[in-house]
Amino acid sequence: METLKNRILKDGHALNESVLKVDSFLNHGVDAKLMQEIGTTFKEHFENHGITKIFTIESSGIAPTVMTALQMELPMVTLKKQTSKILSGDVYQTTVHSFTKAVDYELTLSKKFISPEDNILIIDDFLAYGEAAQGAIRLVEEAGAKVAGIGIVIEKSFQPGRKNLEDKGYEVYSLARVSKLGKDIIEFVEE
Ligand code: 5GP
Repeated sequence: METLKNRILKDGHALNESVLKVDSFLNHGVDAKLMQEIGTTFKEHFENHGITKIFTIESSGIAPTVMTALQMELPMVTLKKQTSKILSGDVYQTTVHSFTKAVDYELTLSKKFISPEDNILIIDDFLAYGEAAQGAIRLVEEAGAKVAGIGIVIEKSFQPGRKNLEDKGYEVYSLARVSKLGKDIIEFVEE
């Protein structure tokens, strides 16, 4: 998606060789118009996948996902990051490790928001190692539902997230694929 790539070049900052900061339009400040265009692009790609619901992970996945859900006219569910296990039968939970923040959290989904008939699109802001996406997949599959695909706003293609997901048979569709980060360097995969 050219608009997104241009915005990353203009306003993104590589903190180091592995972390990209996009606080001015995606992770802190949010550019609603750009989010709307992201929603349109995800819709164009996923509209014939038989999707019934869209899941995302709090909190930075919410803005692009709500725009996608609006345009696809589908329900959206935000998976919660809890700090500890909830000891009740009402939720599905799985432990996810965040390499960027060096913490573990309990990704949590209330059972009332999923059923075995569901075909779920998972959207997230970044794909790095694929830990968050694989956590979301575990919750969907524990409920007996299907994963229709994974939509990513910014993929860091030099990290193994895409490969980890594709090796397990999941479709990954990313709007911007970063091939290299460094001081004053942001490069994209040639497509
Ligand atoms: P993964 O689970 O694929 O290793 O990492 C994805 C999650 O970590 C995303 O939900 C995102 O919040 C965070 N993340 C990973 N890499 C980056 C990055 O370079 N920049 C920002 N802002 N977040 C990242």
